[in-house]
Amino acid sequence: MDYIYEITSTAQAGFGQVHPQLREEFVAKGIICPHCGRIDPLHLNDIDRIIVNVDYVPKTHSGVIGKLVYTELFSSQFYEILGHERIQRLGRVVPIENHLGQFQNRFKCVLIDERQGDDKVRGDTPNEPSICKVCGRLRYWPGWPPSEKWYVLRRDLPKDGRDLFHLGFLLCTPELWEQKIKPVKLKHIKAHRLRILDEPTDGWPADHQELTEAVRAKGLLK
Ligand SMILES: [Zn+2]
Repeated sequence: MDYIYEITSTAQAGFGQVHPQLREEFVAKGIICPHCGRIDPLHLNDIDRIIVNVDYVPKTHSGVIGKLVYTELFSSQFYEILGHERIQRLGRVVPIENHLGQFQNRFKCVLIDERQGDDKVRGDTPNEPSICKVCGRLRYWPGWPPSEKWYVLRRDLPKDGRDLFHLGFLLCTPELWEQKIKPVKLKHIKAHRLRILDEPTDGWPADHQELTEAVRAKGLLK
């Protein structure tokens, strides 16, 4: 396998942002970083539901939530296609509703456990990486839009043969995409092919910890 797929929703109508009141609660309890919005993986079990600030029902099968990193949302149809077992390995599954209490049966939210591999999709010409000045986590953005310039290092792929995983983006094996997801033709769900490389091409260290230290040593705090 020399490539994998990144799954993306191209729908315009998204899920908005986490409701401001709930966000305040998360910050007060130390559940998320107030600056970069990352969920502390040690606090995943302290979140029982997500409320977003939109007042419509999104017409999409997948998405993310603004001001709350990392989350992935799945429509009930997409959830069923992927299967509970596969999805729950990504992190903690919780209900989601809008601020009117609607659509909790139509979508499920996964709070991604970043310990399985955060920000490991890389690019030939990424944005300058930085360290969050509050929580100290690395922020690495491979550039936009998703393209053949994106890649993943072989060393960062899950060793246990998972076919759905999260390395800062939702990724899956070619088999899962081509055999289970693509044939269903879910509206707005697309996948981009990412290369699997042995060595990085972005001029930064391959090892995530060394990369974080190199960025910190350059004083790239934001
Ligand atoms: Zn932070």
